[in-house]
Amino acid sequence: MNKVILIKYGELTTKKSNRKFFINTLYNNILKKLKDLDVVISKDISRMYIEYDSINENLVLKRIGEIFGIHAYEIAYKVETEKDNILDTIKEVLSSNIDNNNYTFKVETKRSYKKFSMDSMECNHFFGSFILKNFSNLKVDVHNPNIVVHVEIREKYSYVYLNEYKGIGGYPVGTLGRGLLMLSGGIDSPVAGYLALKRGIKLDLVYFEAIPHTSLEARNKVIELSKKLSIYGGEMRLIIVPFTKLQETIYQNVDGNYSITIMRRMMYRIMEKLALRFKGLVIINGESIGQVASQTLTSMNVINSVTNIPVIRPVACFDKLEIIELSKKIDTYDISILPYEDCCTVFVPRHPVINPVLSECIKMESRFDYEALIDEIMQNLNIIKINEDMDKDKYSDLL
Ligand code: ATP
Ligand code: MG
Repeated sequence: MNKVILIKYGELTTKKSNRKFFINTLYNNILKKLKDLDVVISKDISRMYIEYDSINENLVLKRIGEIFGIHAYEIAYKVETEKDNILDTIKEVLSSNIDNNNYTFKVETKRSYKKFSMDSMECNHFFGSFILKNFSNLKVDVHNPNIVVHVEIREKYSYVYLNEYKGIGGYPVGTLGRGLLMLSGGIDSPVAGYLALKRGIKLDLVYFEAIPHTSLEARNKVIELSKKLSIYGGEMRLIIVPFTKLQETIYQNVDGNYSITIMRRMMYRIMEKLALRFKGLVIINGESIGQVASQTLTSMNVINSVTNIPVIRPVACFDKLEIIELSKKIDTYDISILPYEDCCTVFVPRHPVINPVLSECIKMESRFDYEALIDEIMQNLNIIKINEDMDKDKYSDLL
């Protein structure tokens, strides 16, 4: 008897006109995620079916739990559609999944193969009395049963299963277009990236680096965080922005308390150019309202005003503790708290302005030719291809 995972589309079904595109994207994402596990994947309009070697069951299920767009799934037994086959399967499924205690049950049959010899109600009774005959510890309760025996009868094959499991939900990555995530080594931005992936946005990652003020260990940490994100987001590019010269120029030319505000305006200007070059429709970052001086509502206005591209801030309204909880869940927390300096923390002024004035920013920015510095940056990007099982040896020479 073959075991097969049945995947329900859930939230996808609300997107009527895009349904086919959503299903195909999910299909391709599952295919990529399981490519090394010897699986056969097929699909129809209501379900996807994954057949696998039982040796790999734990691994397959773990990976299924990392794919956005899967809301619920069942582990079913697949048999050719024939009455006796189905009875044998029901017997086997129950024997291998329940103990000898007393339980209540009901049978729920879905019969999409209309030529089957009985309709759904008749099937429920027929399979139900078979179970009563074979399992003396089971009693029928159609309202509130301990066990539901699901039987799906399709033309060629039928499926029998007991439980439904929850997937991680969301939309399949890639169905909502591309975005660029500003990824620092901190706690917030990987969580923001995870949440954006969950909404179906395919990500490229951008890291602003200020060597020698920041170390190669700091870059390494960002690579490790990127690998964690690619568990959910598939292969992605990490764009490393050489920020040193522009950052030093900012600190030489602007008033200390405005340096962070201006630095972030420069980051956003560069992000806009990167979005154009790498075809990102939105910028995503880990800003959280009130967390630091540059994340007050006034600061956000003054900083955001350099670009018209939407800036999505998935954790804007989260408490730090909520962000930390999620970062632990996605296993980025332990990497994020490694103590390497980031380009933002290196130059933090003692009293950063919390209510910056736009005209002041413009005045200070006119003291140096930032356009030329940004052009130079755009010609010297360093791009690393990231995937989840990337070996440290493979990128150590990039460091
Ligand atoms: P995080 O917010 O990820 O914990 P952080 O607290 O060091 O890191 P903030 O100063 O709060 O970063 O910056 C807010 C957001 O700006 C970050 O979440 C990230 O999206 C972006 N950002 C900050 N520094 C960098 C950087 N060096 N490279 C890329 N993005 C950055
Ligand atoms: Mg932060």
